Amino acid sequence: MSGIIAARPLTAFPNVTANTQIEDSEPFDQAFSRAVDLGNQIADGDDKADLWDIADGLLAGAVQYWLYTRQPCGDPRCEDCLAIGTAEARMAELRRLVEQFSAESQYFHAPTDSNVGRA
Ligand SMILES: [Zn+2]
Repeated sequence: MSGIIAARPLTAFPNVTANTQIEDSEPFDQAFSRAVDLGNQIADGDDKADLWDIADGLLAGAVQYWLYTRQPCGDPRCEDCLAIGTAEARMAELRRLVEQFSAESQYFHAPTDSNVGRA
């Protein structure tokens, strides 16, 4: 799986190509695009690099950053922190987001999936 240019992910959600000027300036879209660009950049700089290792590293960094930002503020009555008030709650929220982003990805289903019928 190393150095396969065809495996390069695109840099944006296909369904948000309209309003690119505005969308691209949003922090979510900036972080999303730069993470994908970083993966492509690392792969381009080392043609022996394993794309799966690069992807796992990006994911580990994203999880690290996400968990850092979801530390509860300490106020037991804070409504913002209700959904992330315990490690288990944070894990559930993280799983929910991973499932949502996966379902929204154009790469979620692949034509080479083993359960795709071939004539
Ligand atoms: Zn809070």
